[in-house]
Amino acid sequence: MLKKSFLRFLIIGGVSTAINYSVFHVFLAVFGMHYAMSSGVGYCTGLVVGYFFNKSWTFQAARHSVAAITQYICVYLGSLTLSLVLLSFLIEGLSFPAWFANIIAIGLTTITNFVGLRFWVFTPESEYELYIKDLISVSHKLGASMAVVQGGGGNTSIKFAGHYMAVKASGTTLSTMSASKGISIVDYPHVLNGLSPHTTESESEKVLKDSVVQLPTMPTGRPSMETGFHAVLGRVVLHTHSVYINCIACSENGRSLCESLFKDTDIFPVWIDYVAPGLQLSVAVKQAVQKQPDATVFILASHGIVVTAETSKEAYVLYESVTKIIKTGLSLSDMTETYTLEKRDEDHYVMPLPDADDVSLRDVLFPDQAIYLTHNVTREKEGLVFKASLSKAEGMAETVLAKIYIESEINRLGYTPVSLNDEDVALVLNMPSEAYRKAVIE
Ligand SMILES: [Zn+2]
Repeated sequence: MLKKSFLRFLIIGGVSTAINYSVFHVFLAVFGMHYAMSSGVGYCTGLVVGYFFNKSWTFQAARHSVAAITQYICVYLGSLTLSLVLLSFLIEGLSFPAWFANIIAIGLTTITNFVGLRFWVFTPESEYELYIKDLISVSHKLGASMAVVQGGGGNTSIKFAGHYMAVKASGTTLSTMSASKGISIVDYPHVLNGLSPHTTESESEKVLKDSVVQLPTMPTGRPSMETGFHAVLGRVVLHTHSVYINCIACSENGRSLCESLFKDTDIFPVWIDYVAPGLQLSVAVKQAVQKQPDATVFILASHGIVVTAETSKEAYVLYESVTKIIKTGLSLSDMTETYTLEKRDEDHYVMPLPDADDVSLRDVLFPDQAIYLTHNVTREKEGLVFKASLSKAEGMAETVLAKIYIESEINRLGYTPVSLNDEDVALVLNMPSEAYRKAVIE
């Protein structure tokens, strides 16, 4: 990737030099200006043009500030000074021919300019800082509501500086994600290369591992299992397991409901039939995008929603609009249920639930239910007993309430909830090295 930006830098160097010489020539020959002035004007024009092209094309940076411009000028002035010192040393000190000394000076300053821009002016770190605040703030907003994500579910990401993507790390919750923790930085074109229907789960795990980029001062978490579909989509991606969205995503007539609810709106959600989370889902999203490159909203059957936009704020507004359309269209009530957990001992928590007998944990509505509630849950007189740490027990309780809410709303509407079949549940529970389970609950 450094090679690609260096190549682009050389091309822009050539273009800037051509502009420099043309301006110099026009001012000297056409306007009759003094050669030193003409040269100065030519140099400055080349510098300005170079700044914009290097910023947006070579380094694909968004950073544009007085500080960035000042640093840019410093890099070029530094190189100019270095070049003059080197020239006088080579020509006067070592008696090199001037043309040869000049070639050496140009070669050296090309490198110092590139290094200065890449490692000081347009660094991935400065780009990350520009974007990450908004993503964190949106992630916290999403993570604050049990109706939107339960436990460690859901994830968000942003692409920056050309080929980097910051994505929620596995084992993190949206509400605790911060710029320095709970995030993984990956080389997303590398992730994309590994997304094919022919890739195996373990190959895909390896690709994901290899795609992690270690940058100084940047967080280095393990990328979320759902990183694949983040790589496929636009600059910002938000994915949640919203109970409101899941009232259509987990309903037998979900696809047609989705069509009729959004018929008269300017949002066109793409329906994606259920496939296992991780590689299969990422491939399905990739195929959907190939068919509809402009799609920005994806309803994942028996799973949740994915939205994509150019900025975190736009993505959040889009997410909220989709939620509002579904809630209003189906007259869904706000999910206001809360739960308490009573500690029985170090690794047992009781969730008091008067109608615990009515909750069928065997009907699995969405993958995280299989992850959280297949094992280590027992039904007792006072409610459900979770064999888990407190944070896991919280995820389990939230998942129970989400399932109850979705099922009761779908039934109230007179529709039929769809359960995953045994094979799908087994697939979720037996993913390679239990990566998915760990990704969600550890
Ligand atoms: Zn998910």
